[in-house]
Amino acid sequence: MLDPISVIFVTIFSAIMSTAVLGSLLPTAIPGVRRWFNASVMAMVALALFLLQNVGPRWLTILVSNLLLAMAMLVILQGCRQFVGMQPVRRAEYAGWGALLAAMAYWTYVVPDINTRIALVSAFYTYAYVVVAVTVFMARPLSRPHYAYWFVSIGACLGAVGHVGRGLAYGVGWVRQTELLQSTPVNIAFLALGVLALPWLSIGMVLLAHDRLAHRLERLANLDELTGILARRAFLAQADAAARTASRSGRPLVFAIIDIDHFKSVNDTHGHATGDRVLAHFAGVVASNLRAGDAFGRLGGEEFAVLCPDTSMRDAVKLLNRLRARVAQAESALPGRKLKVTFSAGVDQYRRGEELSSLMARADAALYTAKAMGRDRVVTVAADEDPVSAERSPRLAE
Ligand code: GH3
Ligand code: MG
Ligand code: MG
Repeated sequence: MLDPISVIFVTIFSAIMSTAVLGSLLPTAIPGVRRWFNASVMAMVALALFLLQNVGPRWLTILVSNLLLAMAMLVILQGCRQFVGMQPVRRAEYAGWGALLAAMAYWTYVVPDINTRIALVSAFYTYAYVVVAVTVFMARPLSRPHYAYWFVSIGACLGAVGHVGRGLAYGVGWVRQTELLQSTPVNIAFLALGVLALPWLSIGMVLLAHDRLAHRLERLANLDELTGILARRAFLAQADAAARTASRSGRPLVFAIIDIDHFKSVNDTHGHATGDRVLAHFAGVVASNLRAGDAFGRLGGEEFAVLCPDTSMRDAVKLLNRLRARVAQAESALPGRKLKVTFSAGVDQYRRGEELSSLMARADAALYTAKAMGRDRVVTVAADEDPVSAERSPRLAE
């Protein structure tokens, strides 16, 4: 038979397990995890103290246990705020906790009244659960699965419902009882909803932390460390998928290889560290001048690539020449020092049914021609496979 003691026992055991899992996540330094871990330890201790009711002193089993559990809830909320990048601590919440402490002491020692105590504690939890639900739900990221965010929000809503019901039932006086752990169906139902929401939240916090970890690893694997744009592997995977889509749909797809001109001399003149800054700056200028549907990646060294789905050759060449102008006009990567950067590009269109590597080879051949023709230009591949210079703008740089 389910009784309040078993409910609390289940919660303690799951708190022990969550503490262990959250503890294993501490070295990841994910924001909020340390607070969740601390809250889990507090909840474990508080729930153990609840079990000592009728055995231990009232100050310990009623006051300290309730206030410790309420603090654990507050710290969970703070952890959620920290996790989503918000300022975790709100002073008013500590003031609310202090008021709860005073009220609990009053209704334990001055006018002993368990119903009022339950109603007050439930009001505090309802607030915390609702804020957790809203905070986490509002912060669900656009580009990632929402599973963990929904999980936490639903658990927090259930906790809030349990506490609203419990608070009303006892506050309004629908239910009266003399001991916290009395085994009445109403008490068990509300206690279960209110208290079991805690392990639910703990599992949710672990899911959130794992999602953040997965996000970090994906970024590490997909983004180029120096420039922050797509790294070669991720870019080529995207290009391959776009080629397959273009092959099915017959829609145009343009691929361009971009190579910075005379980059070796930037390194030789200004040093490798400055070369790195120039690369990052160049990637930033290009990325900010591309359209939303275009993909941009670093193939390696000072060689980049742009993929333009649903774009004609004419429009792609226009886009690349506009990029050349923007790069030429951009502020120097070194404040106060002149440092002009130009690039050459080889461009071609996807031919239905071919492999991505064939398209890349033609774009590369066009790039080679652009370099041979004097650099700082965009070259396309004509139908007869002879690369042809496309619309060279006035010489912009050395
Ligand atoms: P071209 O106009 O023919 O492309 O001449 P280039 O000097 O740009 O080409 P080259 O291939 O001779 O030299 C590329 C240079 O890019 C050589 C290499 O040291 C430098 N490089 C490659 N990767 C990096 C990097 O990550 N950081 C820096 N600073 N330099 C890099
Ligand atoms: Mg180069
Ligand atoms: Mg190169």
